[in-house]
Amino acid sequence: MVGVLPEQGPQLGPRRSKRETIHAIQRWLGTGIELLFPIQCVGCGNPGSIWCRECDAALERFSEPFCNACGRALGGWSACPACRRRKPILPVRSYARYSGRLVQAVLHLKYRPDRKLASVMSDWLAGLYRRSEWQASVVVPVPLSRSRFQQRGFNQAELLARALAARLDLPLAAAQLNRVRETRSQVGLDPRERSLNVRGAFAAEPGAFAEQAVLLVDDLYTTGATLGACARAVLADGGGRVFGLTVGRA
Ligand SMILES: [Zn+2]
Ligand SMILES: [Zn+2]
Repeated sequence: MVGVLPEQGPQLGPRRSKRETIHAIQRWLGTGIELLFPIQCVGCGNPGSIWCRECDAALERFSEPFCNACGRALGGWSACPACRRRKPILPVRSYARYSGRLVQAVLHLKYRPDRKLASVMSDWLAGLYRRSEWQASVVVPVPLSRSRFQQRGFNQAELLARALAARLDLPLAAAQLNRVRETRSQVGLDPRERSLNVRGAFAAEPGAFAEQAVLLVDDLYTTGATLGACARAVLADGGGRVFGLTVGRA
């Protein structure tokens, strides 16, 4: 006579389907992994969440009113003095000043395809978008150069754009805007050099953005040269309007 085996594993009832059992085991393993490697805040390293309340409170958010054109915070003017002299090709809003703990967070996303962090940041960008009067029809990440994409294996702007598109229930067009020539790093260049460095560096798939209202997404805004060059490529392809969102602004 075969003896009755004691029940094995984590309380698996007889009626449980195979799929439920697999999910239960996955949850159990997931808890184990989180116990071994607890989620740490990318801003301060404290365990518990990918972005903690303290780091969130320490962000230097830009408060309204913004310059209608470049998104710089200002008091009383509809456009800042620079934009009244020369209107930028697209309006841009950025969530917070690129300093302190936000630097850690942006660098983390540059080198690790962290979907949890991208989701937190896309929530910030969604808030900016909802407070604007923009009506976008498609979300487009600023493309990485091919060599940098090969080095890192992913584009952090695309992670952000994908999460934002899901939040706003808009389509994502990541493959329709491309870098058509390699550019050197913008680091250390003055505004004029930055603008020359990226001029003509982007091109859209013919007809991809015809009559579209394009929401461009990037992690950082420095002089606006890269977003401006992307916007020119979209408009040259027949795009109707272009807007820009970034997480940080230098
Ligand atoms: Zn923190
Ligand atoms: Zn401005």
